[in-house]
Amino acid sequence: MIPMVDLKTQYHSLKSEIDKAVLDAIESCQFILGPNVTAFEQETAAYLGAPYAVSCASGTDALHLAILAAGIGPGDEVITSPFTFIATAEAICYAGATPVFVDIDPQTFNIDPALIEAAITPRTKAVIPVHLFGQPADMAPIMSVCKKHNLLLIEDCAQSFGAAINGKMTGTLGSLGCFSFFPSKNLGCYGDGGLISCATAELAEQIKILRNHGSRVRYHHSEIGYNSRLDDIQAAILRVKLKRIDDFNSGRRRVAHLYSELLKDVVSVPFEDNKGEHVYHQYTLLTDKRDIIMAKLAEQQISSAVYYPIPLHKQDVFAEACVKVCLPVAEGVASRCMSLPVYPEMTDESVRLVAKTIKEALVG
Ligand SMILES: *Cc1c(COP(=O)(O)O)cnc(C)c1O
Repeated sequence: MIPMVDLKTQYHSLKSEIDKAVLDAIESCQFILGPNVTAFEQETAAYLGAPYAVSCASGTDALHLAILAAGIGPGDEVITSPFTFIATAEAICYAGATPVFVDIDPQTFNIDPALIEAAITPRTKAVIPVHLFGQPADMAPIMSVCKKHNLLLIEDCAQSFGAAINGKMTGTLGSLGCFSFFPSKNLGCYGDGGLISCATAELAEQIKILRNHGSRVRYHHSEIGYNSRLDDIQAAILRVKLKRIDDFNSGRRRVAHLYSELLKDVVSVPFEDNKGEHVYHQYTLLTDKRDIIMAKLAEQQISSAVYYPIPLHKQDVFAEACVKVCLPVAEGVASRCMSLPVYPEMTDESVRLVAKTIKEALVG
């Protein structure tokens, strides 16, 4: 049996340290906005090279709070990728704004910077590129189009913790970077969690107010806010794992590079260039034989999955608003993509078994 992710092996390798951190957090009884939260925010800001980092209750909330802090609201449009998890677009809608989907690059599966300008209208307020599967989006042209049109740049880094472009971490290239600590993410906690990296003190301050009931001073409320805080227990777990994130990500890269070496002649393997460091939240390939491969893998008790089978403009919830939207690259990729098991602790032996099974499926 080879699963998509294996959280248990990682937990067991860190068990004594994580158990102690959790028990210490419980003993301290400072469960909400406690010392681990403050320390984790500081440690994460330092790791990312971000001026500020503010934690919150989930990656979805990180996007929502970032969009609100950016002053985006009803009547505004936000440009994003159609090939992402629904939360990216949901958060835009929570703020009362409208997502505008721009087609993706066929190699990176990230928003195609060359198509952004044509989607800009007088209502456009921001662009949210997603660093999908751990592959950094092509940020230089996205940054320049945002600068030219005075648009805010908010990065969806839910899948890209630790991914860098020319040594600069994703989440520090725009004004705001939104991270998720959902258990299966590259840096995952043991429940829900999220964080926003902020370029300015003003944005960080506004997000701190929003995550805590619109309050800067206790029982003084300047606006309608939310209850969206990271638990101290989760922060304690994340602090243990943050110290290992580079090892986790290099483990993922080892697995991915072995897959690519073994599979490059039979499927279209993930693209990598020298600009960005891909951290392989998912190992996603393209093939016309998806059903055949997935059936053969399942027969051998090897998991695989389709991320994502339906681009957002084709989802029931957006289909009506997007009847005239035609995004052929996203649609083509969604029809041919599939993801293989990838986690830091995956053995080379397991990778070889998966690759061998795929090759067997293809020879029939
Ligand atoms: C996981 C994910 C989110 C949402 O994060 P949660 O912590 O599950 O709320 C947002 N965007 C992308 C691209 C994701 O993969």
